Amino acid sequence: MLRYLLMDLDGTLLPVDINFFLERYLYGLAPHFRHLADEATFIQQLMASTMETINNNDPRLTNEMVFWENFSQRMGVPRQELEPIFNEYYAKEFPGLKRYLPETDRAVKLLHQAKELEMELIVATNPIFPQSVIMERLRWIGCDQYPYLWVTAMENMHYCKPNPNYFREIVERLSLPPEECLMVGNDMEEDLPAKAVGIKTCIVTDFLIDRKTSKYTPDYLGTMDQFIKDLPAIVGKG
Ligand SMILES: [Mg+2]
Repeated sequence: MLRYLLMDLDGTLLPVDINFFLERYLYGLAPHFRHLADEATFIQQLMASTMETINNNDPRLTNEMVFWENFSQRMGVPRQELEPIFNEYYAKEFPGLKRYLPETDRAVKLLHQAKELEMELIVATNPIFPQSVIMERLRWIGCDQYPYLWVTAMENMHYCKPNPNYFREIVERLSLPPEECLMVGNDMEEDLPAKAVGIKTCIVTDFLIDRKTSKYTPDYLGTMDQFIKDLPAIVGKG
């Protein structure tokens, strides 16, 4: 019986093509740093520090620590000077990105279905954003008020997908039996390494990302609508 549902955000709960979203985010943010770097340079440095964060495998460092250490070094500007600019953008402009999302109730339906099945929910989004930003994105789809067991964010995680340690950290921190967990995502490379820890996996195909490099195959593959409908059978209550 599967009792814990780990849910990816971008392309899974959030009906969004990640590149489309990232572009709007980056080009909205970059002008705020014009006094420090031109837009192309800023974006390049931000992406490089994000990659460093994703690749870091040091168990002593949170993603937040890795990112800020790296990014402030790249920019030659201390975190205390950079972070308030991010925060102002997140507070004033970022919420407006909601307008690029199609209206959907699929995420709410999934949460409802999981609750009916008495599953505990974990938001397992790649933890490269602060918690507040992840909660804002959950708000866009009406899913911010749910009593999640955990929401992974840059402050509370030491690894990123596709590192299997990301999934290991979740099950260890929450003391979850991996065989009772199900990871649902849209990215073959990022979400399937959950299998390395013994977690069952589902890939939803609405915004499928498949670089054909994953060594894993999902236990279940289908559209989000099919997944919601089949969830009772998938978790062993059908
Ligand atoms: Mg995704």
